Amino acid sequence: MSKKEFKAESKKLLDMMINSIYTHKEIFLRELISNASDAIDKLYYQQLMDKVTGLSRENFEIRISIDSSSRTLTISDNGIGMSLDELENNLGTIAKSGSFDFKNENGSPDDIDIIGQFGVGFYSAFMVSDNVKVVTRKYGEDQAHMWISEGADGYTIEDAEKDSCGTDIILHIKDNTDDENYEEFLSQYRIQGLVKKYSDYISYPIRMMFETSKPVEKEPSDAEGDEAEDDAPEYETVYEDRTLNSMVPIWKKNKSDLTDEDYNEYYKEHFGDYVDPVCHIHTRVDGNVTYDALMYVPAKPKYDYFTKDFKSGLALYTNGVMIMEKCEELLPDYFNFVTGVVDSADLSLNISRELLQHDRQLRVIAKNIEKKIKSELESLQANDRDKYAEFFNSFGAQIKYGIYESYGMNKDKLASLLVYKTSMDEEHPSTLAEYVERMRDGQDDIYFACGETVDRIKALPQTEAALAKGYEVLYMTEPVDEFVVQVMRDFDGKSFKNISASDFDLSTDEEKEMVRKENEAAESILSIMKEELKDKVNDVRFTSNLAKYPVTLTNEGQISIEMEKTLNAMPMGGDVKAEVVLDINASHAVADKIKSLEGDEDKIKSYAHILYNLARMISGLPVEDPGELSELVCELM
Ligand code: ADP
Repeated sequence: MSKKEFKAESKKLLDMMINSIYTHKEIFLRELISNASDAIDKLYYQQLMDKVTGLSRENFEIRISIDSSSRTLTISDNGIGMSLDELENNLGTIAKSGSFDFKNENGSPDDIDIIGQFGVGFYSAFMVSDNVKVVTRKYGEDQAHMWISEGADGYTIEDAEKDSCGTDIILHIKDNTDDENYEEFLSQYRIQGLVKKYSDYISYPIRMMFETSKPVEKEPSDAEGDEAEDDAPEYETVYEDRTLNSMVPIWKKNKSDLTDEDYNEYYKEHFGDYVDPVCHIHTRVDGNVTYDALMYVPAKPKYDYFTKDFKSGLALYTNGVMIMEKCEELLPDYFNFVTGVVDSADLSLNISRELLQHDRQLRVIAKNIEKKIKSELESLQANDRDKYAEFFNSFGAQIKYGIYESYGMNKDKLASLLVYKTSMDEEHPSTLAEYVERMRDGQDDIYFACGETVDRIKALPQTEAALAKGYEVLYMTEPVDEFVVQVMRDFDGKSFKNISASDFDLSTDEEKEMVRKENEAAESILSIMKEELKDKVNDVRFTSNLAKYPVTLTNEGQISIEMEKTLNAMPMGGDVKAEVVLDINASHAVADKIKSLEGDEDKIKSYAHILYNLARMISGLPVEDPGELSELVCELM
């Protein structure tokens, strides 16, 4: 039998496993048991579909056996097994394509991260063994096969004997080294402990023949002189078939019997994450529909979250059997980052995907779950704002998108989940309700400003002016923010007001009157400027709405400057232009200078261009023609 090479990515992963300094080598057992359990799930499900009778769950088991003399640890299941093709495809290639897209700075994958992040599954066997044999026979086939590998230089497959379907994974355990103990994986107590720790909930029995010794029961003897010897008991070896796991899935256990650590461990083992989730949601509902659900809100988006490969949904079980790995119907799109399990006895086992969409029970469950997720997020928001901020950093955009995409239809449901940094607190984000609560007497609207970063927003003349007058401003730094605010329109009866809008004015009536007069008096100058800039701005005017900055651009109409940046950065983004007004600070020295230019048309025109470009720079927009600008400035100097 000729040796075959592993696919390139598998080879890298294998190398990593073999040479791993990973401290949690023990997880190999959980990975192999989990594969065994999946294989049984598949067969159990298929037999139910095939209507094989006389079948019960008790027929299935995972068996572990230790043979110290040959240094082997064997994990066997009577699940679905693998055909020759499947052996080749499943064990010769890593399933998780893209695992290696995540490289550290040196360009080579960081093993700890990869192991943690992708739960490398079967290959983890090579962390503890120098020879792995897989003997397997597919359900419905007569011929069994054996896959053998000693590591990265390849594997062979040959025909083998096996009485019934299922898979045996036979690990030849490595020799101990100076600083690594592998021998422990041949200890029945150690294995028992690992099963309890990582695989207790597995819904099939994990059995092992336990070798113990017990005192030999002796016939009572009357013989004289034997008494002294009788005190030293004799032991005999006995074998006892033990079930190592409790088989209760974690979501069926009582909350009071579980610690945060239990929940987090389960999450990391099952949902391909290597950091603790932000929170877990464990709920049991008895009523019209009955179900258990265990859900998690991850701290960070999964590696494929932003790709088209990402599949959202919760695993769906009925009576302990998984009927769907990702049931999308259970989660609204705006909570698509939630992962977990729903187990309901009310669902039919052979329900098809099409039927599922119309299933009334399922819709009721989905509705309840949505409410539950929302209320849990709200309580996290109330009780641990920093943690909530972490969550919102990761998934806030999804919630905003939920508001935007429904044209605001979901805003009442989702607005309470929004948080923003504000001028009051740049570190800890505030909810809209908290902002409204703090609004000043006489302030009717919610003031916000947009920009790429908080610093950028703080540098806006409008922000400076609003803060100088004692108002609080929401800082919106995500491109989607302004679009969201537009579809929301208001919150708690208060309109949203962009402080960069040309009609936003915090001036007093007196100031407004003063500016109106100034504009009237300088009309001829301003109209020359306006004519000169007519392709760029809708208006040029004096304003009393600025504090120390000489000029700024304000927005007129639906498209703001920030939206212009966003829309034009999109792949299909056309030539979107914000409609802007050039505002000149009426109480700045530059205003007096302009007024003194009466009659000097050329100068007025130069000033128009210079001020317009200054305003663009202040708003974070590029100068349109740097050459022209520098010429104009030099001329003036
Ligand atoms: P994963 O389990 O995440 O898909 P693995 O590397 O652990 O990745 O396993 C790869 C594939 O090999 C599995 O998807 C499954 O199809 C197959 N496999 C592994 N172990 C078994 C087993 N005990 N019985 C049947 N198939 C198995």
